[in-house]
Parts: sequence; C-alpha cells; structure tokens
Amino acid sequence: MIRWSLIAEFFSLLIITIIFLRYYGYERHVAFTENRKLFLLCLVSSFISILLDICGVFTTTYPSCVPLWLNLLINSSYFLAMVFTCSLFAYFIFRLILEHVYDKHCLHQAVRTLACLTAVYTLFVLVNLFTGVLFFFDENGLYCRGPLNQLGFALPVIELGLLTACYLRNRASVSKPVIAVMQSLPPIVLVVVLFQVFYPEVLLNGALCSLTSLLLFISFQTHINDRDALTGLRNRSNFLTELSLRITSRQPLHIIAVSLHSLSDINMQYGHTVGDALLYEIAQELDRLFPQGRAFRISSLTFALTLPWESQDQSDACLDIVRRRLRDPWILGEIRCQLSCCMADLRCDEEETADRIMEYLEYTLGLAKQEHTLVRFDAEIRHRLEQKHAMIAIMRKSIQERRFRVWYQPLYCCQAGTFHSAEALLRLSDYDGNSISPNVFIPLAEETGMIGDLTWIVLEEVCRLLRSGAVPGLQSVSLNLSMQQLLDPHLTERIQQYLTQYQLRPEQLKIEITERFLLHDAEYARSQLESLTGAGLEIYMDDFGTGYSNLSSVLNFPFSCIKFDRSLMLHVPEDPQAVRMLQTLTALFHDMDKRLVAEGVEDAEQAAYIKDAGVDIIQGFYYAKPMPQDQLAAFFAEQQEAQT
Ligand code: C2E
Ligand code: MG
Ligand code: MG
Repeated sequence: MIRWSLIAEFFSLLIITIIFLRYYGYERHVAFTENRKLFLLCLVSSFISILLDICGVFTTTYPSCVPLWLNLLINSSYFLAMVFTCSLFAYFIFRLILEHVYDKHCLHQAVRTLACLTAVYTLFVLVNLFTGVLFFFDENGLYCRGPLNQLGFALPVIELGLLTACYLRNRASVSKPVIAVMQSLPPIVLVVVLFQVFYPEVLLNGALCSLTSLLLFISFQTHINDRDALTGLRNRSNFLTELSLRITSRQPLHIIAVSLHSLSDINMQYGHTVGDALLYEIAQELDRLFPQGRAFRISSLTFALTLPWESQDQSDACLDIVRRRLRDPWILGEIRCQLSCCMADLRCDEEETADRIMEYLEYTLGLAKQEHTLVRFDAEIRHRLEQKHAMIAIMRKSIQERRFRVWYQPLYCCQAGTFHSAEALLRLSDYDGNSISPNVFIPLAEETGMIGDLTWIVLEEVCRLLRSGAVPGLQSVSLNLSMQQLLDPHLTERIQQYLTQYQLRPEQLKIEITERFLLHDAEYARSQLESLTGAGLEIYMDDFGTGYSNLSSVLNFPFSCIKFDRSLMLHVPEDPQAVRMLQTLTALFHDMDKRLVAEGVEDAEQAAYIKDAGVDIIQGFYYAKPMPQDQLAAFFAEQQEAQT
C-alpha cells in the first residue's frame, strides 16, 4: 500500500485559506471586477481540489470504511478538480498577460486550447472508470496507479508552455506585475512537477496551487493599488501604464477624456453618498460603453476611455456615443439628474511617451473646461503647448540670469493731490526683446511653482528701493502675492525678515491679494492674513469686480483697502449705471472703513468722475504707466517739485 504524505497539502490548504480571507476582506471595499472574481474562483477551486485530495488519501488508505463507488467518485472528482483548477489559473494568467492587448484573438485561442485540454483530460478520467488507465482499485480495494497516472502532471507543464509562448509574443504590452509572475512561475511549476515525479508519495498538487496563488496575490497587491477605490476603475497610474504599454507595443490608441463639472451641485443637493453613487454609475457606464474599450478614473472628476484607433470615422462614432450618453440624464433610484461635462479627444501616436500624452490630455481638457465643450487635440494645440514650454524655459533661464525686472506704477492720492505710493509689477522680455505680459507669465509661474522665486525677487527689489530712499516722497509700495505664498506657513516670518534686514517699517509695504485665492481655503487664508496684519502690514483686496468678488470676503478678511478692477471703470462715465454703482460701492466701503483704489483710469474725464465718486487713490495710465526704478525716481522728483 502507498504511504502518502499529506503535509504539503495541509500546509497549502492553510495558505489558500489565508490568501482567500486576506483578499476577500481587503477587497470588500473595492468594486469586484472580472479578474477579481476569477482569482477568487481559482482560490475556491484550489481549496476544493486539495480537500478532495485529502479525502481521497483517507478513503484509499482505509478502503474498508467507504464503499468502492464512493472511493472511485472521490478520486475521480479530485483528478477533475485538479485539472479544472490548473486550467482556471492558466486562463486567469492569460487574461493578465493580454490585459493591454486590444486584439482578443489570442485570448480566444487560449480559451479554446485550454477547453480542449481540459475536455481531453476529462475524457481520460471518464474512460478511467472502465479501463483504469489513471488509477484503479484491486480486488482488495487497494489503490493502484494506472499506466497513464502521471498524465496529470503533463497538463500544468503544457499550460505553462502556452503561457510562456503567449507572454513572449506579447512581451511589449505586459505590465510589470505580470512580468514578475511570468518570470517566477516556470521555475516554481517545473521544480514542483519534477519533485512530484521523483517522490510521487509526497502529494504536491495543492502546493502548486498555493504557490501560484501566492505569486498572483503578491502581484495583485500591486494591482489593487492601481484601482480607484470608489469606482473600481483603473486609476491614473494604471492609465499611464496602459499608455506606455500601448505605445511600446505600437497599438494606435484613441483616448476620450471626460471631466465632470456639476458634481459638487449634486453633492450639495443630495449629499455625498448620492454623489459617490453617481460617480460609480458613470464609471460603470463608461466601462460598459465599448466592449473593446477600457475606462480609467484619472483624477477625482475626470475619466478617460481608451479605445483601439481604427479610423477617424470610427473614433468620431465612438465620441458621439459617449457624448450622447453623457447628455442623457442619470437615474439613481428616485433621483434623476443631468450632469454637465467637458471632453477631450486625442489620438495617441507611437512616437510619444505616456507622460507626454498625459500632458496633451490635461492641456486639452483645460481648454475644454474653459470653453465648456469638446476639444480635439490637434496640431494647433500641440503648437500652443510647445509655445508654453518655450515660455517656461525662458522664465526658468530668466530667473537664473536675473532678467526679471520690477517696474512701478505710481498711485495718485486724491486727497493730497499727489503721489505717495506705487505698485510693484514684474516685467519680462524674451530673448528678442519683445515684452511678455504678466498676464501670460504669472499664471505659468503659478502653475510651475516659479512664483515663489519671483515673489521673493520682487520683495527684495522693493525693500532695496525703499531702503535706498532713491525715490523722493515714496512712502509705501504694494506688491502682489499669489496663492502659493498665501499657503506658505512661514509667509509672515519671511516678510518680517526682509523688513528687518532692510530696516523698514511694516507700513512701507502693502500686500495685494486677489480674492479668488481666498476662496480655496478661506479659514487658512484668514489666519494667514490676520498674521500679516498682526505684524503691522496692510492688506489690499486686488481686482474687486472681476467676477470672483463678493461682499462677504470684504467683511470676512482683514482688508484695509479695496482695489476696484479696471473692468468696473470701463463704462465710466458714459454709462450712468456704472457711475452709480461706483458711487454706491464707494459709499458702502467707506462706511465699512475701507479705503478705495480705482485701477485702470485712462483719461481725464474718467478721473474726474472717479474722484467725484469719492475714491481715495487712482491708479491708471492717465496719471502714470508702470515704469522702471530710475524713471520712477525722476517722476516722483518732478511731482515733488511741482507741489512746492
Ligand atoms: P494687478 O495687480 O491688478 O496690476 C494692475 C495691472 O493693471 C497692471 O498690469 C497695470 O499695468 C495695469 N494697469 C494699471 N492702470 C492701467 C490703465 O489705465 N489701463 C490699462 N489698460 N491697464 C492698467 P500688468 O503689469 O500687466 O499686470 C497684470 C497682472 O499681473 C497684475 O494685475 C497682477 O495680478 C499680475 N502681476 C504683475 N506683477 C506681479 C507680481 O510681481 N506678482 C504677482 N503675484 N502677480 C503680478
Ligand atoms: Mg495688484
Ligand atoms: Mg488689479
């Protein structure tokens, strides 16, 4: 009688159970995808086949305890379960290998081959009942191996061969975790099978399953990080992997990105649970929309769809399907809502890199957001993006070479009838001498983080000017701060350091802040502004009237002065309503103890009306344009002379 060793099988049972519990527990918060279900099925199937193996050993060791038919049934079931489990694992790994390959021909071929192999083996098991080619029970009821008993080992080896061939053929589009699986699996399978051939009494079928599961589980842990927890879609890093694999395997790709606008309205109206449910629904819908497509959640409100590029017509048709679906209402139980969104459409070429494609996509989406529509990435957009890169390069170089200049625009004090202060404004010209507008380079500096360096350049320059006393009668200078400075916890400290270093009083420096920066994190912004005012610095609200401004900001933040944006002056004095509004706002803010600056005053008539309205300070081309430091000194000297 054969004395089987079950130690490896018990151990494998334990490993499979642990993986199942860990995996199931961990995954419960994450949507179940096909691959996840399949992996769980592999684990369950392994568990059953190991149990059958253990039962089979028990019934063959003690044949008198069970009738022969049951013994036959248990052992035949074990043979079938083992084969089925191996094929299931193989199918799962085929899917992983071919995950980033659009052409599913290879997968279909693999399924057919696996089905054939399993069917042939099943036939053997059935035939075995009559012939005993695999195993049989002798007249004493003892288990005996048939001539083809070892045939079972051939199956995992054949399947491994097929997997390796498939992997080698599609290597360019296989993701890293799967490469790791495919590099470790062959030695494991071969060692286990060889060991089994030489020591057939040590049962290792379960060990094969548990080691494969462990290997996949480890690779899956990385896969889990590639998934978005809320929607179960692949996330941004998976999207980048998909892009680079498609590019290296030369599969032309069509990408449709969708960015949702109005989800915050839904959150406010129905609560975040409904908002989350809606996101889930949209994600699933996008994932379902095209059998050959794949959906990703690349940022909180942005989804991307990847599709094989076949032709322009085909991609237009797909785009149309997405647009039509997004135009339709979404129904969640009783709730029916419509979502507005913008879209970007792009063809991914082989010469590009994944990061570059991502940049194109984000830039195109940015344009689509401005226009609230669909924007297709084309040569013109590529050119604009290249110009942006060129501009950023100029800015970087200009910071190193200290080419940025600070100019000053004098501010006319209506009460004194002269100039006491100025606003510091950055200036830059390209290497051909053409000046670049701050409206172009400041947003870029904010986007790239260069604004930090620039602000400190301006601050130092302003402090140096004030300290030098080169401008007679210049009592204070205001400078513009951006969002990043407002978020800097050491902002006040840094400004104070400059003031101390240049022996200046805080009243000599005014800080201008655009209200839109305050909306980002109002609480923190208020604490920052209070810390600045606590240090004796005055804060001006810049660009009041540009669409972001609301009166509650004036109330809630410690502004001492409000700067009316140029847009409010445009129709003064022709439009009586504009004049009236200016007068009313001025009276209102004066009542609130705020001083007022009118920006963008360009002619005498405007200036007269604005003075009449009671505005305290006027900044505009009518009085003076921004100018370099030496001209400012001359300008102020002239004004002083005129006064005396
Ligand atoms: P801002 O802070 O509102 O500055 C006033 C802008 O209005 C300046 O434009 C100024 O030249 C312009 N301006 C003043 N009076 C008139 C007028 O009568 N007519 C017209 N057409 N324009 C007038 P500039 O220098 O082009 O700056 C644009 C914006 O760039 C600034 O708006 C500010 O937001 C930003 N900026 C400029 N320098 C800096 C800086 O050093 N740091 C930061 N963070 N932003 C800056
Ligand atoms: Mg300003
Ligand atoms: Mg302004």
